[in-house]
Amino acid sequence: MLIFSSGLQLQQHLQKIKGTIGFVPTMGALHEGHLKLISQAKASNDCVVCSIFVNPTQFNNAEDLAKYPRTTEQDIQALLTTACDVLFLPAVEDIYPNGTELKKPYELGFAATVLEGAFRPGHFQGVAQVVDRLLELVKPHQLFLGQKDLQQIAIIRAMAKIHHPQVEICAVPTVRAADGLAKSSRNQRLNAAERAIAPVIYQTLVSIQSKAGLASFAIIKKESIEFLESKGLKVEYLSLIDSNTWEELEEFDNQKEMAVLIAAFLGPVRLIDNILL
Ligand code: AMP
Repeated sequence: MLIFSSGLQLQQHLQKIKGTIGFVPTMGALHEGHLKLISQAKASNDCVVCSIFVNPTQFNNAEDLAKYPRTTEQDIQALLTTACDVLFLPAVEDIYPNGTELKKPYELGFAATVLEGAFRPGHFQGVAQVVDRLLELVKPHQLFLGQKDLQQIAIIRAMAKIHHPQVEICAVPTVRAADGLAKSSRNQRLNAAERAIAPVIYQTLVSIQSKAGLASFAIIKKESIEFLESKGLKVEYLSLIDSNTWEELEEFDNQKEMAVLIAAFLGPVRLIDNILL
């Protein structure tokens, strides 16, 4: 595996690659979810590029950015066990040579205004900004994203449709711990008691999925929030959406492809998860 920290050197190397490039952007603190994206990328590409960059422009909370785990040495060791060919470890100046300020907001559509978009102002603009820049540098054939961040996939699709229409976006199912908790770099910040409680998020999603169409979503939603809060979580949202339009639905609608998404604080850590219905 080759490691580049300069965007220019990365580009010079990638220009020499003959086959296809699969790209996996990450913020590091790598876990099995990230590694799954890499193996999926290798399954359909000649060369896999992974980036690790804790993108300051997508954090709307300074403490979250400061506390985001940075484990580069461990990450390199983990990547050496995978099919990753190139690791890009840029500095902020490489990604944002003209500063982090966004000159013109991205048009991300309605999907960017709800749920994460509503609770984390500016977050998706920052995500679009960094992925746009990374795609410009890496110029991959395929981009691999995790369904763990379902809304992020919709936002990146909207950005890429305009700025990188040649890139194929590939969604990879969420990798979970044995108890169902979605693997996340943020899980490292949970203490033992919180870690033991955290699987209730996925249990709630599975329970809602099993009741879909059999009972009223409004009632299920109320009971689910009460259950999660009884376990000590603070729920930001628990929403049913049309996964094509991202419109929130009051009730289940079999005519639509749907997803349920949860964001909740457990102690100081904000966790998100979702399930397709
Ligand atoms: P992050 O480092 O959290 O920004 O995530 C980098 C990429 O890994 C994103 O496309 C995430 O959706 C994906 N990802 C994170 N956690 C998981 C998971 N548990 N399963 C699958 N993909 C994941």
